[in-house]
Amino acid sequence: MNEPLTDFSRPAHRAAFQEAIRQVRGSLGKSYPFLIGNQRISGRRTLWRENPSHRKERVGQITLGDSSHAEMALTQCEETASLWARVPIAERARILQRAADLLKERRFELAAWEVLEVGKPWVEADADVVEAIDSLRYYAEEMLRWTEETRIGQVPGERNLYRREPLGPGVVISPWNFPLAIPAGMTGAALVTGNTLVLKPAEQSSIVDFHLVELLLKAGIPPGVVNLLHGLGPEVGDALVRSPRVRWIAFTGSKEVGLRIIERSAVTPPGQGWVKRVIAEMGGKNAIIVDRDADLDEAVLGVAASAFGYQGQKCSACSRVILLKEIERRFLERLIETARSLPVGPAEEPGTVIGPMVDQEALSRVRRYIELGKKEGGLAFEGDVPDRLDGYFAGPAIFTGVSPRARIAQEEIFGPVLATLRASSFDEAIEIANGVPYALTGGVYSRSPAHIEQAKERFRAGNLYINRKITGAVVGRQPFGGLGLSGAGQKAGGPDTLLQFLQGRTITENTLRHGIE
Ligand code: NAD
Repeated sequence: MNEPLTDFSRPAHRAAFQEAIRQVRGSLGKSYPFLIGNQRISGRRTLWRENPSHRKERVGQITLGDSSHAEMALTQCEETASLWARVPIAERARILQRAADLLKERRFELAAWEVLEVGKPWVEADADVVEAIDSLRYYAEEMLRWTEETRIGQVPGERNLYRREPLGPGVVISPWNFPLAIPAGMTGAALVTGNTLVLKPAEQSSIVDFHLVELLLKAGIPPGVVNLLHGLGPEVGDALVRSPRVRWIAFTGSKEVGLRIIERSAVTPPGQGWVKRVIAEMGGKNAIIVDRDADLDEAVLGVAASAFGYQGQKCSACSRVILLKEIERRFLERLIETARSLPVGPAEEPGTVIGPMVDQEALSRVRRYIELGKKEGGLAFEGDVPDRLDGYFAGPAIFTGVSPRARIAQEEIFGPVLATLRASSFDEAIEIANGVPYALTGGVYSRSPAHIEQAKERFRAGNLYINRKITGAVVGRQPFGGLGLSGAGQKAGGPDTLLQFLQGRTITENTLRHGIE
């Protein structure tokens, strides 16, 4: 059963969330060590994290690790690996359930940390915590479907046993945009299957992930089985990926970093007695097709939510909308009016829909793409950023008449920038939709059963949505992950996720000893 989202139309919920933000604000500015085994390690190399809605508000200071800390953490993983692998499945699942319960108890507090650390508006922060709770519960339940050992293929005189065993020590490398759901999911799946790990969270969300690891330890994961190492991706992340002591890497992030990790981990140095397994969930350049007979009211709302929710900083976000030429003008008029109505403001204000970009780098990238878009298409709309704001804000931008080959129609921007493209037929619309190397999410608004069938067959996307928005996959209901260069994994929150963290072993015994069974 999935955890329900908070209904913020209820005054009591709004008041409770305001209070959670107030309390978290009261504990800003602290230092966050990383957690290796039983040790909390603080150092002189630190990084201040500022609130993206208010540049001058310091959320906290994290200690940055280096390659020697990576080795320390892997030693802990090795030392605890065989013990944790022998903990019965039911016990590992129970600990994960307990972690989900603890998360639920603290859901407003953790969502408030997300509002302040990564600038998630209320509903987005709430949804991320809910997804984390769902993931932990789902993987615990999935694990209980399996036993340590299964008897298979029985014939007289032969006993066949099939075991699913953990891979051993590994690394989880996570992005900042779903600061709890993604690391909780990858970490939970790896732990419940009996693996030990180092979590290397994104620099921008290290404080939320510090709380996550503390909570996992409190739930009963033994120290050393899960370790937290803050640090810079190209330094600590790279050191972990390259270490010959690592057996698997579960990565979620950009295509550029994901492909580099796949390449680096393919090298098998002397002394490394296994091939590293890499699960890489990467970016997207997702399209929604709006057919000539689509319900435009629904389509406008769905496109606006998919393109501008969390400022477009979702791997699943819509960044291309492909319009059948008959409805192009009508759709755009309404979409622009809808975009104009979306309030831009600090993430902690309850009415905010468009909050800040996560940091200066993200803001500069969006601005560069908006400038490029002005050369590649027509700027039909750019939202104003009120003067009173001192965070990393960019209003939503909509470009029209964009060519499918244009860079703003091909490259992941990861911001509230939407390219609209024209198609003369539904066939052509599908061709345009498929004309990028990514294939993560996709959507179609249509009333035509034939076109819907055509989309089901031909629209290449790991998650295809029909007549609804393309963001907000629910654990267990919409297993999530991409095809093409959007991902090389078995999807998160689905029936095959856990298999990625296990290896099969078959034991066959001849039971016909001296003719006696
Ligand atoms: P990113 O690729 O910049 O960073 C992701 C993680 O990799 C961070 O922890 C970072 O420190 C680390 N890293 C960076 N360089 C590294 C290196 N050389 N070696 C090892 N680790 C390294 O991504 P981001 O900005 O944190 O997140 C946004 C990206 O993530 C977008 O592209 C988005 O589409 C993608 N994403 C994908 C999914 C999915 O499920 N497919 C979900 C969320 C985000």
